[in-house]
Amino acid sequence: MAALRPRPLIERLPAVRGRLTANAPLAAITWFRVGGPAEVMFRPADLEDLRHFLAGLPAEVPVTVIGVGSNLLVRDGGVPGIVLRLGRSFAEIRVGPGHILAGAAALDLNVARVAAEDGIAGLEFLSGIPGTIGGALRMNAGAYGHELVDVVTGAEALDRQGRLHRLTKEDLGLSYRHSSVPEDWIFTSATLTGTVGVTETIRARLAEIQAAREATQPIRSRTGGSTFANPPGHKAWELIDRAGCRGLALGGAMVSEKHCNFLINTGSATAADIETLGEIVRRRVREATGIELRWEIRRIGVEARGVESPVPEARR
Ligand SMILES: Cc1cc2nc3c(=O)[nH]c(=O)nc-3n(C[C@H](O)[C@H](O)[C@H](O)COP(=O)(O)OP(=O)(O)OC[C@H]3O[C@@H](n4cnc5c(N)ncnc54)[C@H](O)[C@@H]3O)c2cc1C
Repeated sequence: MAALRPRPLIERLPAVRGRLTANAPLAAITWFRVGGPAEVMFRPADLEDLRHFLAGLPAEVPVTVIGVGSNLLVRDGGVPGIVLRLGRSFAEIRVGPGHILAGAAALDLNVARVAAEDGIAGLEFLSGIPGTIGGALRMNAGAYGHELVDVVTGAEALDRQGRLHRLTKEDLGLSYRHSSVPEDWIFTSATLTGTVGVTETIRARLAEIQAAREATQPIRSRTGGSTFANPPGHKAWELIDRAGCRGLALGGAMVSEKHCNFLINTGSATAADIETLGEIVRRRVREATGIELRWEIRRIGVEARGVESPVPEARR
């Protein structure tokens, strides 16, 4: 007798107004441009649609939310369960006196620009971070001496059962590239508060940040930004340089010559190339300096099955 096959996940999901797609490619919507598909991708129509979906979703189905994939390495075997992508109805940016209310899908750059036009200073650093507000909350994103924790005054999130939580800055538990909010909660919006500033001055600062990034980072490459967090008292890039890893390559993955805490897909990399190269860098740094680097890039999904290719040697 033929064994009964389980029904595909997409057939076991609550009815929604948004879009559900089985086997949805993810590589094209991440900066690294690698990795396998989502078992099911869900783009909710709005907050109510998302709440209803989560409330009706079988408890054993994992949910992974992604922003614009600027800090993500999706493994080659894809991501089991639901991958959630928030769309336009979560990208609204509203201005109040001295503050901004931004949806979780709003781009950090757009938030910085709106703040500039409304004379709200202090959010300029966001213009250099190529992610969304949701990703910035999860990562406590920061640049040029400022982090999200310096400007966020509140946020909203849904838990895995679809209940809405209003969070204070303290509830967010933000520390260096980390939030203590449970991993399966989904940020839906944030309030960011600045100080009174002059639009011309703020605009000039945005232009300075843009120029500085062009000069120091491979921002037009397929990359995930800083690969490793800076260990206390050290710069990850200096340790990587000291361990002789600048320019190191494996398969289609390479340690950037321009900024050696960035890994790059030179065109043909698999996620396995990138992750393996990252692990080689970690090992070499440990051997050279005794310091253990922590991945800042979030790795999601599973390795490809049935691909038994030998691991290539790292080369220069
Ligand atoms: C060229 C380049 C430069 C960069 N420079 C910086 C920098 O200067 N400073 C810095 O901090 N980072 C930097 N980054 C990394 C990255 O831009 C940030 O971490 C950013 O905050 C990630 O946002 P995202 O929307 O792309 O999130 P993703 O990469 O899509 O996801 C990152 C994490 O956030 C979670 N997440 C995303 N949205 C939500 C949500 N709505 N609710 C809950 N969790 C969510 C994901 O599950 C994942 O764990 C850089 C990246 C690149 C490619």
